[in-house]
Amino acid sequence: MRIVSVRERSIPISRYADPGLPPGGLTTSLVALTTDVIQDGRPVTGYGFSSIGRFGQSGLIRERFAPRLLAAPEDEILDPFQSWAVMMRGEKPGGHGERCVAVGTLDMAVWDAAAKIAGLPLHRYLASRTGGVTNPNVVPVYAGGGYPYPSDDLRRLRTEVSELLDLGYERVKIKVGAAPVPDDLRRIEAVLALLPPGGGLAVDAMNAYGPVESRSAAAALEPLRLWWFEDICDPLDFEALAAVAAAYRGPIAAGEALFSDAEARLLDRYGGLRPDRDVLLFDPVHCYGLPGFLRIVHELEARGWPRSAFWPHGGHLFCQHIVAALGLGGAEVNPLCFHPVGGLSDGQAVHAGCVEVPEAPGIGFEMKAELYALFRELPEA
Ligand code: MG
Repeated sequence: MRIVSVRERSIPISRYADPGLPPGGLTTSLVALTTDVIQDGRPVTGYGFSSIGRFGQSGLIRERFAPRLLAAPEDEILDPFQSWAVMMRGEKPGGHGERCVAVGTLDMAVWDAAAKIAGLPLHRYLASRTGGVTNPNVVPVYAGGGYPYPSDDLRRLRTEVSELLDLGYERVKIKVGAAPVPDDLRRIEAVLALLPPGGGLAVDAMNAYGPVESRSAAAALEPLRLWWFEDICDPLDFEALAAVAAAYRGPIAAGEALFSDAEARLLDRYGGLRPDRDVLLFDPVHCYGLPGFLRIVHELEARGWPRSAFWPHGGHLFCQHIVAALGLGGAEVNPLCFHPVGGLSDGQAVHAGCVEVPEAPGIGFEMKAELYALFRELPEA
């Protein structure tokens, strides 16, 4: 296989479904990577994007990583692991910064193309490449969202969560940490009152708390028996995280803003997390793509973590395939926010808290009409 063109564009994405609200300034990069492999009279094209939360990566993709793929001879990129090695050629260890996201963006498109060439949905192709178990294509999901609204917050939050429950979700995650704890407790209680029996509520502080606030927030939240408490303090403040974990009995979720196997080892060694209940959020795109994410899964598995502890951040189709292929705990979905990259494919629905991962070859972006239209319109890089 050779890669004959890479097209890329950064697009704005919003935390809110309502286009009238300030979107928050986030972007993501869309990429389309065309190969020299012809199927049904057309070249196979893989699609990818920069997941959600770390901004678009146009500069790094165009100047550094796409040119390496385009220059690679046929025998150097026979599969996605080789393509990854080509992208990382000459890169020094450490300093993950943003390059991990740029590499992960292109890596998603490489896997989409490779699975299409194999004629398999990504989850089956990935399972075959990693010796994974033959998992059913049904994965547990939860709905992410619940960002603070600039006005009329509680009413809008209740409306949003009611909409998520109507879509079939039983577990949801909302944001906290941007307001004083008593205000967040009102948000949490408003949502708990809506959830069905057996439902679950996770809260995400988006790394907002300092060491002291982390402990006081945890003490205030503990009686609410949340599904999990996420991104409590600075991602690298393992001392503060360990202090919370020593006192807070409920599940803690971490790892969304860590990008390498070295950082994952530090989290495990110093973060005080407990493999019998805590949750690992590493985003496969932000961790240098699947080869980087697989290293993290294997490292932490060897240190005693079950695969069921992994609930990858991202909220999109790519993660659903990975969860199915690797037998992970479940996947986030962003049904209402970050349109059109978040959420399910057209026609996909939630049943009993789970979704069926698409069986079309590749990731299945072709079944997500609005996103697919944007991929098709991408300009040459
Ligand atoms: Mg988070």
